[in-house]
Amino acid sequence: MNAPSIIIVGGGVIGLSSAYQLARRGVTRVTLLEKDAVGAGASSRAGGIITGHLWSKTGIEARKISLRLYQELSEQLRPYGYQYQAAGCLNLFSPEEWLERKKLLPLYRECKLPYEILDAAEIHKRWSLLTPADDMTGLFDPLGGYSEPDDYIPALAQHCRALGVDIREGATVTEFVKERERIIGLIADGELLAADQVICCVHSWTNRLLAEVGVQLPMKSFVHQRYLTAPLEKTPPLPAVNANPYEVYLRPAKDNRILVGGETADRPEQETAALAFDMNELRAPRGFSNSLRGKVQSLMPAIAQYPFQEERVGLIAFSMDGEPILGVVPEAPGLLVGTAFHSGGFAYNPVAGKLLADLATEGETELDIVAFSPDRFSPTAADAYRNTKLRQKQAFSRRH
Ligand SMILES: Cc1cc2nc3c(=O)[nH]c(=O)nc-3n(C[C@H](O)[C@H](O)[C@H](O)COP(=O)(O)OP(=O)(O)OC[C@H]3O[C@@H](n4cnc5c(N)ncnc54)[C@H](O)[C@@H]3O)c2cc1C
Repeated sequence: MNAPSIIIVGGGVIGLSSAYQLARRGVTRVTLLEKDAVGAGASSRAGGIITGHLWSKTGIEARKISLRLYQELSEQLRPYGYQYQAAGCLNLFSPEEWLERKKLLPLYRECKLPYEILDAAEIHKRWSLLTPADDMTGLFDPLGGYSEPDDYIPALAQHCRALGVDIREGATVTEFVKERERIIGLIADGELLAADQVICCVHSWTNRLLAEVGVQLPMKSFVHQRYLTAPLEKTPPLPAVNANPYEVYLRPAKDNRILVGGETADRPEQETAALAFDMNELRAPRGFSNSLRGKVQSLMPAIAQYPFQEERVGLIAFSMDGEPILGVVPEAPGLLVGTAFHSGGFAYNPVAGKLLADLATEGETELDIVAFSPDRFSPTAADAYRNTKLRQKQAFSRRH
């Protein structure tokens, strides 16, 4: 009997991580199909920030696994030039936001998630570039940090190839093939490819592709952008910072630069991406980068001396309840999906790949992921959600 064959659709970090997890557990026939080049979607545009300080028990437990796997990946991918940056992650809160976030501290303790509560003076003492307002509170995640997408993506792809994964770039999947209600393969560029399992990791293109099997998930995509400053004289002494009260996030970046990102809260949702859609078509609104610079300067006045030199614009995707959607597509056995990782898909990718590989090979996961299940939504509520046009600020808005 032939070894099982698994095809992954989408060569972003979720697809690559799934391929890596399958290959490292000995699955020999793993093919990854990417319509463009690996990383061409949201993944190469990400800030790469990760924190374990999420808002649901499943999310927290999943991120703990991601953080552990990032340490492992640092070892595995070092020969290819990647290393996890364990700079810590500072999550900042206004007094009103802090009242809400404080309620999660018992859950963080129950999940054995480390944290430190810092006032504005302590934050400035530790990271002198940061000058938060006196009434702000910081929740520091010592395990958090970031991954540099420009290092991580090529390193992971090279490692997957070395482990035997057949990565095909420029291969567009147009259809899934069913036999007696089960997915038995797909069509890529007119060619039929048979598979025992198909894993669909196509992010904002998900509903376009799932329409082929009559499935639509309650998720929405929004434009999101991040920038790199001119180089500073030396490495900026900073953790990754999710500065929600300032509507920005930032972190140190390569070549002594600072990466700064922010949302366009009033921007309407982006329609489900057509197969031919390319994220390079997206633009940030005129004047957005200047307003973002103004916001960062309130937190980090020194940034005024360092203009933005690079912009990357992409899509982030939210599900109706803000949790990722990951699991078997109930209407199409043999098909798995991993999508809607909000602005945290880079942070989720190691664990998402592991969970998808577990499901594809064992049919179960060690972590209870009912909260991520594709069939958790009531069909009526899901339809209503998909048919309502939203702006970014009306969607479930959580950071990383
Ligand atoms: C500006 C920005 C900043 C961000 N910052 C962070 C951050 O700091 N931390 C964090 O955790 N996350 C961040 N994110 C979110 C993160 O980038 C995404 O959640 C993550 O990259 C999603 O990965 P993916 O593999 O699902 O999607 P993608 O990287 O979009 O990959 C999907 C791939 O599928 C391919 N594809 C689509 N249709 C087909 C088809 N029919 N056939 C074959 N291939 C197909 C596409 O070409 C694409 O390459 C950010 C996102 C943006 C845009």
